[in-house]
Amino acid sequence: MEDAKEIVTVNVEDAKAVVTNTLQFDDKLIKIRDYAKINNVPIIKDDGMVFLKMLIDIKKPINILEIGTAIGYSSIMMAKDSNCNIYTIERDEKMYNEALKNINECKLNDRINVIFKDALEAFDDVKNIKFDLIFIDAAKAQYTKFFEIYTKLLNKDGMVVCDNMLFHGLVNDTNYENMSRSLRGLVRKLKNFHEYLLNNESYNSTIYDIGDGMAVSILK
Ligand code: SAH
Ligand code: MG
Repeated sequence: MEDAKEIVTVNVEDAKAVVTNTLQFDDKLIKIRDYAKINNVPIIKDDGMVFLKMLIDIKKPINILEIGTAIGYSSIMMAKDSNCNIYTIERDEKMYNEALKNINECKLNDRINVIFKDALEAFDDVKNIKFDLIFIDAAKAQYTKFFEIYTKLLNKDGMVVCDNMLFHGLVNDTNYENMSRSLRGLVRKLKNFHEYLLNNESYNSTIYDIGDGMAVSILK
């Protein structure tokens, strides 16, 4: 990585704790973030990224599985300053090509493997690998399926992180009349996933009001 050209300091606040950390962006990462902004690519929020980096610093995962690559931003951020191997799944061809380009430019192609498939059909591509961290960040309506399919590959001290759990606050919004039918359906599915997670006896799960809502599930 080049020297940092821009440093963003992020405060992750809740009622009792403030976590302060920094994200460092070189020219290439600044370009990737700008591309995401211009093209409305929903990359992880800065405070969410700080939180995820912190979990990675503590956990030191060897193998990470990410569902939802988009343009490779979160993969690159997880891989830099650590030595993990990342397997990341993306079904959109334009995103996939952009991710490959960005990952190559950051010279992380030896540690980030992008799988161009629908994650509902990519199990065989990774089935021989054990993962220390699974990051779910793709179609929200399918979170329960992703969780069920891929946690079979989680190491026994592994961790699952799910992004967008609060979905711009809509998950806790009771004002359904203002939502379109499809949005309401999506919110209902995310709520079902909350229930599924919190009732899943095999995991201790916490949903944090960080970024767009991040759930951390740890195998009991
Ligand atoms: N993790 C990225 C953002 C991912 S955005 C980051 O923070 O930088 C969500 C991505 O998931 C989109 O690019 C979308 O195309 C992809 N996606 C959604 N459903 C998917 C599925 N079933 N299989 C594979 N990719 C999927
Ligand atoms: Mg996300």
